[in-house]
Amino acid sequence: MKITHRFKLSFAAVAMTSLAVLSINNAQAQTAAPAAAPAAKPKVEMQWLGQAGFRIMTLGGKLIVIDPWIKSGPKAPANYKADLASVGKIDLLLVTHAHVDHLGDAPELAKINNTKLYGPADMVTPLILLGALPAELGHRFNKTGAVKPLPGIKVTAVQAEHSSLLVLPNPTTNKPEPHPAGEAMGYIIELENGFKIWHMGDTGLFGDMKFIADHYKPDLVMIPIGGNFTMAPEDAAYALKTWIKPKAVIPMHYNSNPLTPGTLAEFNAAMKGSPIKIVPMTEGQTVSF
Ligand SMILES: [Zn+2]
Repeated sequence: MKITHRFKLSFAAVAMTSLAVLSINNAQAQTAAPAAAPAAKPKVEMQWLGQAGFRIMTLGGKLIVIDPWIKSGPKAPANYKADLASVGKIDLLLVTHAHVDHLGDAPELAKINNTKLYGPADMVTPLILLGALPAELGHRFNKTGAVKPLPGIKVTAVQAEHSSLLVLPNPTTNKPEPHPAGEAMGYIIELENGFKIWHMGDTGLFGDMKFIADHYKPDLVMIPIGGNFTMAPEDAAYALKTWIKPKAVIPMHYNSNPLTPGTLAEFNAAMKGSPIKIVPMTEGQTVSF
């Protein structure tokens, strides 16, 4: 079931920089349907696919997918599980690291959409060399590196304190085999209107979260709270309140694996009294802003 709710965020940056886009879209809407009620302002739509997976439709109509763990993801939307193509025509595909709950179906989605998979250089290389991804569909980059894969959209790779191991079946024996896959990363995703999202990937606490926040100034942070493999709720709250201080946060990477026991209730409790807006989502839900 998809539930859509809208939350008001008075992001000055969005209001300032998206005016041109808003007016263009409104003009088109009014031309197409002059008798309709005043056109609704276009929104960025963001759907949680479960764990660290998100599907983002930008104001410019570009579809960004991050860490799509769908076929074997226990909380991924059923319609996407039934047909990966129903995720939509993906314009930008990002993967933070090689663990199965992040790499997920990304190589398959890259092939279905004939779109490049952007990921840590040393994860993309073995994917290509082992035959899991056509060479022309892999883009290798690394921390502090930035790409501009679509008009007005910029993605910068940043540090994540985590590991990365690629497990693929041996084509002869069909037994799973481990392969080194470089280092995990997070992404600063700047949309057409200047709105900045920091998808942290999987990460533990590290002091340069403050540097990243100071340097890139993210508006919205997607932060892991499940614990065990990543920050637990209390760690995430400490980072947000002490170092990052974004306008809004979406907690992620919990509720999909018994080994990540952190809960939304614990996160809410740890964030009590903070002005940072928490945007709690359920898997499959879409929020717009
Ligand atoms: Zn991981």
